[in-house]
Amino acid sequence: MFDIIIIGAGAIGSFLARTLSQYESNVLVLEKENDVGNVTSMANSAIVHSGYDPVPGTKKARFNVEGNRMFPEICEELDVSFRQIGSLTVAIEEKQLSVLKELAERGKKNGVPTKMLTAEEVLAMEPNITKDVKGALLCPTAGIVNPFTLTAHAMENAIDNGVKLHLGEAVKAIKKINGGFQVDTDVATYEAKVVINAAGLYSEEIAKMVEPISWKINPRKGEYYVLDHFRPGFVNHVLFPLPSEKGKGILVTSTTSDNYLVGPSSEFVDEKDDFSTDPLTLKDVRAQASLMVPNIPFPEQIRVFSGLRATPSTHDFIIEPAKKNPNFINVAGIESPGLVSSPAIAKYVVEELVSAVFPLKKKANWNPSVRKYIKPSEMKDEEREAFVKAHPEYGEMVCNCEQVSVGEIKDVLSRSLPCLTIKAVKKRTRAGFGKCQGGFCQPKVLMLLAEHYGISPLEILYDKEGSNILLKESK
Ligand SMILES: Cc1cc2nc3c(=O)[nH]c(=O)nc-3n(C[C@H](O)[C@H](O)[C@H](O)COP(=O)(O)OP(=O)(O)OC[C@H]3O[C@@H](n4cnc5c(N)ncnc54)[C@H](O)[C@@H]3O)c2cc1C
Repeated sequence: MFDIIIIGAGAIGSFLARTLSQYESNVLVLEKENDVGNVTSMANSAIVHSGYDPVPGTKKARFNVEGNRMFPEICEELDVSFRQIGSLTVAIEEKQLSVLKELAERGKKNGVPTKMLTAEEVLAMEPNITKDVKGALLCPTAGIVNPFTLTAHAMENAIDNGVKLHLGEAVKAIKKINGGFQVDTDVATYEAKVVINAAGLYSEEIAKMVEPISWKINPRKGEYYVLDHFRPGFVNHVLFPLPSEKGKGILVTSTTSDNYLVGPSSEFVDEKDDFSTDPLTLKDVRAQASLMVPNIPFPEQIRVFSGLRATPSTHDFIIEPAKKNPNFINVAGIESPGLVSSPAIAKYVVEELVSAVFPLKKKANWNPSVRKYIKPSEMKDEEREAFVKAHPEYGEMVCNCEQVSVGEIKDVLSRSLPCLTIKAVKKRTRAGFGKCQGGFCQPKVLMLLAEHYGISPLEILYDKEGSNILLKESK
C-alpha cells in the first residue's frame, strides 16, 4: 500500500510530489499522458502574476501572492528560467484610470506592491505602446517563467527524492477500502492511505468517483499567437489591458526564450479535449492586442496554440478534503493564476490537509535542487569554446533555431524523469520550438530517442499514442 497517491502530473501534481518528497512517505503519481505537464500546465501565458487582480480574501488571492514570493528561490533550486520583469496594466481611456486606482487598492489588500504611472512614464518604459495610453499600474513583482521546465524539473526533483511516477496510466475507478482507497487505472490496481486529486480539467470526474460533489469544472479556451524572437525589447514588461469578467484580458509579453506571446482569448467550450484554434477568434485576439500595442509584427508569428482553463463553478480554487472522506483531497478548479500558485498550494495541501490525516516526518537528507542543466548557448564565448572542446557533443547542433546540441538532448534523456517523445524533448530543451518548428531537427531528435531507448525509429512518437512520425520502412 502506498501512503499517498497523487492523480495528475501537471504543475499542481508535480509540486505536490516535490513537497511530499521532503517527508518520509511512499508516494506514487499517476498520470494518463506519456509526459508530465502535457495539458493545461504547458499551454498558458506563463506569467508569474503579482496577485493584484484576485478578489481579496479568496484562495486565488492568497496562493497567488504566496506563490509569487516563492518563485525566485524555487526557480533557482529547480534551474528554471524566470525573469521578474514586472507587469503594466494599461489604461487607454481616461475613464479607465479610476479602475487602475481600484486595482491598486485591491493590490494593497492582497499585499502586492504597485505604483501608478503617468502616460509619459509608460511611454518612456514601453516605446511601442499606443500613444493613446493614459497611464498604467506597475506591479514590479510580476514575472515570466518557462512553464515546461517548471513542471518537469519539479517532478524530476521529486523523483530524485524518492517519489514514483507512472506515466500513461489513466485512473478509471476509486473504491473505499479499509484504511484508504483502491485506485484502478487502465493498467493496474493500487492502494493508498491518502489520495490527492490534481487531475485538472478532469478533477470533477475523479472527485465523483469517491462521493457526490456540488461543483463543476467548465473548460474555457484561450488562444494565442507566438512570435519569433525578432527584436529584444519590443516590449519590456507583461502588458495587460484592464481585466474584465472574462479574465485578465489579452496580454502582450516577451517569454523567457525571448519570443513574444499575444493572447489569450476566453471562450467556454463543450469538450475538455478540444485544443483547436479558429481564425475568427485569433483575428479578435490580434485586434484587441493592437489597441494596446499597435505595431505588433504579426508576420513574425511562428505558431498559434490554445489552452483550456479548468474553470470551477465556485469561482475560486477548490482545495479541500472530500466532505465524507478526509483522506481524499481535491485540488481542483485551478485555473489562472494556478501556475504561479502551484508551489504555495502544494505547501498548504501537504502541511494542512495531508498532515491532518497522515503523520508527516521530515527527511534528514532532502535535496531541494535538480542537477544543474548545461546550456552552452547561455555561456560567454570563451567559456563555451573551452567547454565544447572538452565535451564535443555540446558543440554538435541538433536544433539550429534554438541552438540545442546533442549533449543537451542526451542529458535530458539520461535523467530520472522519463523523456519519451519528441514533444517531451522539445519541452525540456526547446529543440523544435524555433522558426522551422522542428522541420530540420525532428529527424535527428527521433533518431536520438530511438538510439537511447534501443527501439526502432518507427516506434518513436511525436506526442500521444498513434502520433508516430515514421509509419513504415520504404527502402
Ligand atoms: C489560457 C490559459 C492561460 C493561463 N495563464 C496563466 C498564467 O499566466 N499564470 C498562471 O499562474 N496560470 C495561468 N493559467 C493557469 C495554469 O495554467 C493552471 O492553473 C495550471 O497549469 C493548472 O495545473 P494543474 O496541474 O491543475 O492542471 P494540468 O496541467 O491540466 O494537470 C492535470 C493532469 O491530470 C492528468 N489527468 C487527468 N485525468 C487523469 C486521470 N483520469 N488519470 C491520470 N491522470 C489524469 C492530466 O493528463 C494532466 O496532466 C492559464 C491557463 C490557461 C488555460
